[in-house]
Amino acid sequence: MRDFVYGALLVRVVFAAGSRTCLANEVAALGIQRALVLCTPHQRDLAEAAATLLEQRCVGVFDGARMHVPVEVARAASAYATSVGADGLVAVGGGSTIGLAKGIALDMGLPIVAVPTTYAGSEMTPIYGLTEDGVKKTGRDARVLPRTVVYDPELTLGLPVALSVTSGLNAIAHAAEGLYAHDGNPVLDLMAEEGIRALAAGLTRVAAAPSDIEARSDCLYGAWLCGTVLGQAGMALHHKLCHVLGGSLDLPHAETHAVMLPHTLAYNAPAAPVAMRRIARALGRPDASSGLHELAKELGAPTSLRELGMTAGALDRVTDLALTSPYANPRPLSREAIAGLLARAWSGAPPAP
Ligand code: NAD
Repeated sequence: MRDFVYGALLVRVVFAAGSRTCLANEVAALGIQRALVLCTPHQRDLAEAAATLLEQRCVGVFDGARMHVPVEVARAASAYATSVGADGLVAVGGGSTIGLAKGIALDMGLPIVAVPTTYAGSEMTPIYGLTEDGVKKTGRDARVLPRTVVYDPELTLGLPVALSVTSGLNAIAHAAEGLYAHDGNPVLDLMAEEGIRALAAGLTRVAAAPSDIEARSDCLYGAWLCGTVLGQAGMALHHKLCHVLGGSLDLPHAETHAVMLPHTLAYNAPAAPVAMRRIARALGRPDASSGLHELAKELGAPTSLRELGMTAGALDRVTDLALTSPYANPRPLSREAIAGLLARAWSGAPPAP
């Protein structure tokens, strides 16, 4: 048994198909009288439906959420929240919408109720990100951790299969890195392995039958577990590389995670054999990195950075950026090996054996 420190983050979680009907009660239980509902323009209808459920406790809908939370959007949303006298936020959507709620909460200290509709996991973390002048800065702050999360798998029925798959692989990445985190613990390990198992099996069933509510429930359950791991364990090489690729080249978030994960696991495999055995067991495959590569291919996920729009000319710069500020990783960082990993990921080659 390794040494560990265990601490839990307090988030109330309500999980059931149809649980959005509890939204007004959950908001009231936090003492929120004037909730502002947040969404992307694309999910305005869903947000309006949430506003209707909240009845007189809703003071407006702000539909300006955008990927990576541009600071000007967060400022405009805070100004709107002030103008309507909001005393709480209801974020209905994926990581971008929940990220916007976090940006407002950081500024105004308002409590957040999150209603996630993807598998990204932001709802379970005290991590925020704000983008200013093209640079995304992230940080941790207890004020941005949602107080209540309402998981309603029915709200994920319309998530397109391609987005479900990449979002699910993004979630698996949180759990996989949690299993070799320098600050992990046995409870997070259990959650991580169960989260990967639920998502790997659930995604295969969602790809075959997108309106299978049991499969959707399994995926959202897995997303909750994986998000919890992300919120409590330090991430390593994989998340660093994805952050660099997203931040410096504007590559799409979930797709980048889907492409990179088999390669970053292959890199770390020699230094984290126990974690790799647990990932492989959760996937039901003999090997963690090649198993994930096979799963991603079967599910039709992108398998190369090239198809996400990255040019070969950017490989050197990304390698340099990945080696800048030091961070914990089970295997020491070698420029040559990371350059090799990125070259394979760029071309779509299988992960290094
Ligand atoms: P997203 O929130 O950007 O959503 C992508 C698109 O899908 C949006 O247009 C959205 O409206 C739409 N969508 C969402 N749910 C849908 C549904 N059920 N049906 C149909 N369409 C739907 O994507 P994401 O991958 O959830 O979030 C990515 C962002 O979240 C990134 O900026 C990432 O950095 C951030 N993130 C933050 C954390 C954290 O802990 N802070 C964790 C994970 C991700």
